[in-house]
Amino acid sequence: MTSILITGGAGFIGSHTALVLLEAGHSLVVLDNFANSSPESLRRLLELAGPDAEARLTVATGDIRIRDDLERAFAAAPAGQPIEAVIHFAGLKAVGESVQHPLRYWDVNLGGSRQLLAAMQAQGCRTLVFSSSATLYGMPEQVPIPETAPIRPINPYGHSKAAVEQLLDDLSASEAGWRIARLRYFNPVGAHPSGRIGEDPRGIPNNLFPFVSQVAVGRRERLQVFGGDWPTADGSGVRDYIHVMDLAEGHRAALDTLLSEEPQLLTLNLGSGQGHSVLEVVAAFASASGCPVPYELVARRPGDAASSVADPALAAQRLGCRTRRGLAEMCRDGWAWQSANPNGYGTANPLEGGG
Ligand code: NAD
Ligand code: UDP
Repeated sequence: MTSILITGGAGFIGSHTALVLLEAGHSLVVLDNFANSSPESLRRLLELAGPDAEARLTVATGDIRIRDDLERAFAAAPAGQPIEAVIHFAGLKAVGESVQHPLRYWDVNLGGSRQLLAAMQAQGCRTLVFSSSATLYGMPEQVPIPETAPIRPINPYGHSKAAVEQLLDDLSASEAGWRIARLRYFNPVGAHPSGRIGEDPRGIPNNLFPFVSQVAVGRRERLQVFGGDWPTADGSGVRDYIHVMDLAEGHRAALDTLLSEEPQLLTLNLGSGQGHSVLEVVAAFASASGCPVPYELVARRPGDAASSVADPALAAQRLGCRTRRGLAEMCRDGWAWQSANPNGYGTANPLEGGG
């Protein structure tokens, strides 16, 4: 059993990863300020993890930017089992919002990460799994995209992730002993197959998958497909969707690799290596849900790439695992969540219906 601090553990990817780690027998402290999540996700994942899990999960409500909150989180580990590793999910992730509020993004994503790393150093904890993003690759020249592709983010969200990656480079070069995995996620979607936990975006979803699920459940009238004239097989944009449970299992594998090998800085794509177009996602979701997904073709969204697909070979080799769940399972499980929880975790949502 390892004691692990999970920042942002109540969020979409954090909650699924917390469940996988509890099921693997680990002890967790979740540090979250619930800026974009609900404590209900933690209550539900405990239900799924079984009766003995409650004693192994401690919730520390707090902010990664505040030193006292970080100290409290480290101190919340079980007696005699100090935090050995941190999985750092906490951050802001909406591209459009990052263009409107760059200071907020640099503050939470870079400032919060800096504060967390300082706390880890002070605590003598030097094992970290960091949530990075394929957004770093900007407009990729080569698809599938290897980890060696140039880092050229094109929005403040991407810049803040690139800055944290740079900080981790500098830190691991400055001091021996750091074990760091920078995991570049492609497009995480779906939900736990139980439908008890899933993605609960606030306001109008920016991302394709939650928007499609909300159309299927009748919460939105129709999907706008951003561009039907891309140089792809059917003219709509192509992405690499990865089931959130495959992603969660990837985190467990990354942690096992870091803890069992010599100190290192690992940089890995987490994607399936399979591209799917917007229209393929629409058809697969309609088929999984049995509900129509009306859509209209509209202009391209500024800043979009035609195609973004991972080269997942290095992750498969270094972590010894591959994604197992395809688009049909992503839609099936996404629908299990959406149909049972049409309003997500049911938190009051002042942005709903807003512009
Ligand atoms: P999410 O918003 O569901 O989860 C993030 C969690 O962090 C939330 O629970 C939120 O309340 C918490 N949080 C935010 N600011 C905080 C702060 N200052 N202090 C403490 N907690 C804070 O997002 P997610 O989809 O689960 O993403 C997790 C991570 O993965 C993020 O860093 C994101 O940038 C990265 N990522 C996500 C995607 C994606 O498509 N979902 C893709 C690539 C990378
Ligand atoms: N997309 C779309 N309509 C939407 C949201 C997204 O057509 O309402 C398209 C988008 O242009 C891209 C794909 O769906 O081709 C995935 O977009 P998303 O925002 O989910 O992920 P990202 O572009 O960040 O990879």
